[in-house]
Amino acid sequence: MRTIKLVADLHIHSIGSGHAYSTVTEIAAAAREKGLSLIAITDHGPAMPGGPHPYYFGNQRVWPRKIDGIRILRGVEANIINEDGELDLDQYYLERLDIVLAGFHSQCFPATDVKTCTKAVLNAMQNPFVDIIVHPGNPEFPLDYESVIKKASERGMPLEINNSSFCGSRRGSAQNCHEIARMLAVYGGPVVIGSDAHFAWDVGRFDNALETVAAAGIKEEQVLNTSAEKVLTYLGRKKDILISYEQE
Ligand SMILES: [Zn+2]
Ligand SMILES: [Zn+2]
Repeated sequence: MRTIKLVADLHIHSIGSGHAYSTVTEIAAAAREKGLSLIAITDHGPAMPGGPHPYYFGNQRVWPRKIDGIRILRGVEANIINEDGELDLDQYYLERLDIVLAGFHSQCFPATDVKTCTKAVLNAMQNPFVDIIVHPGNPEFPLDYESVIKKASERGMPLEINNSSFCGSRRGSAQNCHEIARMLAVYGGPVVIGSDAHFAWDVGRFDNALETVAAAGIKEEQVLNTSAEKVLTYLGRKKDILISYEQE
């Protein structure tokens, strides 16, 4: 079986998250070493204890578009904070960012039943500024996979297979990630593989997630981060990122 080659890591935390330990420049250098061409810095939203103030996200515009030849996307991993699928960052900021990940974190959403969690995710997917639903395999937030994966595939909303879910984060996720991957292979919706690195050395670490995706029979065309152009075109559906890259 041919291994899928990934060129972009769209889920990375910098020191801005409050519990991650590398700077943007260290992350860019690590990405370059791993042979990536595109990364997104997606620090946790403001509701996370120790997370940045909303102002942090507004000021990401001071980052250069490229560091060491690596394209840097300005992003957030926003918290889904209620069953209406609302996020912990206002539209004012969301629309200024290149990429918005959305997901559950126990510090920001009281873990509850399948019905509530599923409703929250389905509603979050309706938000036009949400680009990717992250770590849906977290067993703390049980989901009706059938309806989430069906809806995500219909809407073209990528679901993340998160590599750190296999390496000690969100214990008990692995089984769910396998199930999600199998269903994504059936429904054919888009998939993103993210490292969720909280330290530069983990940037571009995709091994477990890649194995899962391959074992499930997900097609290479389904995986968004196999091509920088594919990522930028998808994100560009709402903004002119591609144009701004061409200009700079
Ligand atoms: Zn974190
Ligand atoms: Zn997360």
